Amino acid sequence: MKKNDTEQIRADNRIDIINTLRVFGPLARVDIGQITRLSPATVTAITSELSDAAIIQEVKGPESKGGRGRPRVLIDLNPTHASVLGIKLSINEVRLMLGDLKGNIAHETVVVQKTQRHDQASLNEMLVEQAKRFLDQHPEHAARLVSVGIAIQGFVDVHKGDVVWSPALNIKNVNLTRALENAFECPVELANDANSIAYAIQKHPEYSQCNNFVVIMIGYGIGGGLVVNGSLYSGHFGAAAEFGHTKYSHEGPQCACGKRGCIEAYVSDYALYRDASAVMDLPATDRRHPSEKQMQRLTELGHQKHSYAVDLFHQAGKVLGYGIANILALMSPERIVVTGPGVRAYALMEPGIHEGINEALVPELIGRSQIEPYSWSEDMTGKGVIALALKHFR
Ligand SMILES: [Zn+2]
Repeated sequence: MKKNDTEQIRADNRIDIINTLRVFGPLARVDIGQITRLSPATVTAITSELSDAAIIQEVKGPESKGGRGRPRVLIDLNPTHASVLGIKLSINEVRLMLGDLKGNIAHETVVVQKTQRHDQASLNEMLVEQAKRFLDQHPEHAARLVSVGIAIQGFVDVHKGDVVWSPALNIKNVNLTRALENAFECPVELANDANSIAYAIQKHPEYSQCNNFVVIMIGYGIGGGLVVNGSLYSGHFGAAAEFGHTKYSHEGPQCACGKRGCIEAYVSDYALYRDASAVMDLPATDRRHPSEKQMQRLTELGHQKHSYAVDLFHQAGKVLGYGIANILALMSPERIVVTGPGVRAYALMEPGIHEGINEALVPELIGRSQIEPYSWSEDMTGKGVIALALKHFR
């Protein structure tokens, strides 16, 4: 075996142990070995190296069984060893978060900004300025900053760090990583918001051992994230997986992307509110961006069995089901996880989802893939960008 191979295996094992501790920690050495399937000697060698670097620390666990009151020694990541900055850029809002090595959010702030008024230079200046201001308020994190993660709605090229198109901006092909890299002298990772959520879900104990799953994010827009053989798949050009802009009908309703008939044009918040307003007496809204409160009200009408609302969500579920059928036929994943703010109406869409899948696919292709909702909170956005930034910690 070449020396480089040995070094690579050691580096991979080190990342494996750090990730395992982030998902399941604190853990005893023997449990780390069981989860990672690494030998006791390898676990001991790597944990002692991580301990020397103060990346991990020993913590007291609960008393061992029959251990005459002696607590077990467990290992955990040292949260204060490194900090990362997460930025979520959405329409008229910049959310900044500081995360620790364990992936927890330590501080968070939201800045209201007319994001669509910026050109490339002023957008980057604003982001650097807001990030500096936020870090100045938390000097202990600024001193140990190792990387930055930034997520945005829309099409991105993760390899170049470019936003190709986003509903949050009025400009196209904007680089968002170089100015931040120069300002903070650390790696900056860009992702679209659904992919950053897939990172967060991958760090959940229930999904961390699941190697092939698809995340569908529903809400203002419809996004997707593909986890293939344990890694997020972003595609050769870095723009995967734009599930929301795959088609249901070529003559369908107008989508925010400029084309017609995308899944998003039927299932997103703006599509649901547009269709509901045509037949129901609803408060006026910014047609391109109904508020969370308005969407909750519409969902409530569905739960109260208001017939238009019931039909609306059923039909949206059916379109989503057709889209999911395409994913099942192409990828045969273990699980399809539906999340995002739109999951508030999952129970109303679920019968339609299964109807759509069963209409579209023969049972053999539906297979044993599980389709399930993943409860949503704003916290997920933060966990996503923090997990994205932590990709660089090794
Ligand atoms: Zn579209």
